[in-house]
Amino acid sequence: NGSTGTNGSTGTNGSAGTNGSTGTNGSAGSSGTAGSTGNTGSNGANSGGSTSSDGKPSGGTSSGGGTSQGGTSATSALTKLEVSGDEIIIRTSADVVPVTSTLSSPFRIVIDLPNSTLGAYAKPGVTGQIEMQVQHPKIEKIRYSQYSDNPSTVRIVLDMKQNSDYQLTETKATKQWAVSFQDKKYTVVVDAGHGDSDPGAMSITSRKEKDFTLPVANKVYKLLQMEPSIKTLMTRTGDTYPTLQDRVDLANGAKADLFISIHGNSFKPTISGTETYYSRSDSISFANLVHKKVTEVTGLPDRDVRKSDFKVIRETTMPAVLLEVGYLSNAIDEALMYTETFQDRVAAAIAAAIKEQLNISGMPVEVKSASSQTTQQKESSKVMTASESSAAKTTVPDSTPVKSTGTAADTTKDSAQGKTALPVK
Ligand SMILES: [Zn+2]
Repeated sequence: NGSTGTNGSTGTNGSAGTNGSTGTNGSAGSSGTAGSTGNTGSNGANSGGSTSSDGKPSGGTSSGGGTSQGGTSATSALTKLEVSGDEIIIRTSADVVPVTSTLSSPFRIVIDLPNSTLGAYAKPGVTGQIEMQVQHPKIEKIRYSQYSDNPSTVRIVLDMKQNSDYQLTETKATKQWAVSFQDKKYTVVVDAGHGDSDPGAMSITSRKEKDFTLPVANKVYKLLQMEPSIKTLMTRTGDTYPTLQDRVDLANGAKADLFISIHGNSFKPTISGTETYYSRSDSISFANLVHKKVTEVTGLPDRDVRKSDFKVIRETTMPAVLLEVGYLSNAIDEALMYTETFQDRVAAAIAAAIKEQLNISGMPVEVKSASSQTTQQKESSKVMTASESSAAKTTVPDSTPVKSTGTAADTTKDSAQGKTALPVK
C-alpha cells in the first residue's frame, strides 16, 4: 500500500477529488525545443515548448527592418516551401523572422511569417488554406494560408505524425530557413514500492508487498525497453530500499516526463479492487489513463482515481501517479497478484498507458467529436482549424472528469465481491 512508509497516513483519503482542472497538459511533456540557431533576428524568433499556444502569431508584428504601416504590411513573399531530405525549407523574398509555436492533440508545428504574402504560392480563387501532400517520416501533411491581411502574415502548419522536437535554423542562404526534426526521447521513472527493510503490506497469506511490486515494475521496464523513444529509470531493480526522498530526487533530477509508483493495497479482507492516486492536477490525465488501462485487465473492482498526498507523487515535478493494483488483504486479489500472467497483464497495461500519455504510437489522448470539428472548420474557412485560429486551448486531457472519491476504506461497491474469473484477452 502506498501509505506505509510514505507519509504515515493510514491510507484514508477524505478528498473529494472533484477538480475540474484545466491545467497544463501532461501528455506532451516538453514538446518542441525550437532552437533558433543562426538567427540574428531581433524578435526572439520562436516560442517552442509551448504546447497550448493558441497559435496566433506572437511577437511577429515587427518586420525585419520593414517599415510598412497600415493596410497590408507585407514586405516579403513566400518564395519556397518544400521538403528537402528530412528538412522543410522555407524561403522568403525579404528578411523576416519566423515565429514558431506548437499545438497538441494532434501535435502540430506552426510557423508564422510576419509581413509576408503567399506570393507565387497563392492559388487563384483560394482564400483559405492550401494543403500540400508530402512524403516525410514525421509529417503527415503541410498546410499554409494567408493567415492575416493586417498585419500580413503567412501561416504554415506542419501536421505531425508524432510528437517531435524540432529546430528552425537559418540556412547559409539568406532569407532561407530549414525546419529539422529530432526523435523525441522521453524519460519515465518506474518505482517499485517499498523494498529491503520495508516490506510494505503483508498479504493475507503472509507474502510481502515488496515482492509483488518489484516483478511488476521489472516487467514494465522490459516492455518500455522495446520503445526507442522512452528512456526508463528504475528506483530499484532488486530488493533494495531507496528512501522516498531518493525516489523523488531520481525523478526530479532526471527531469522525467512521467513517474509511476506501483503498490499493492491492504485493508479489510472484504475489500478488493484497483485504485489509482494522483496528488497534483497535472497528474490527473495520466492517472485516469493508468486506471482505465489497468482496471481493464485486472478484472478487479474499479475503486476509482483518487487524490492523495503520498510523497512520491506530491514532490515529484512531473505527472506522477501511485497505483494500488489490488488488495493483498483480499484472498481473491492476492492470489491473482502473485501470478505471472496477472503481473504480465498489469505491466502491459501500465506500459500502454505510459505510451498513450506520451502520445507515442500516434494515438491522441483525446479525440474531438467529429461534428464539432466540422463546424469549426466551416467557421474558419480562411484559416486552418479552429484551434489554430482562435484562443481555444487544445490541451484538454486534464478536463477529463475525475470520479469523486470516498475514503480508501469502504463504499457500497465493496460488497461486490462476486467477481470470478478474469476476462479473457
Ligand atoms: Zn505500498
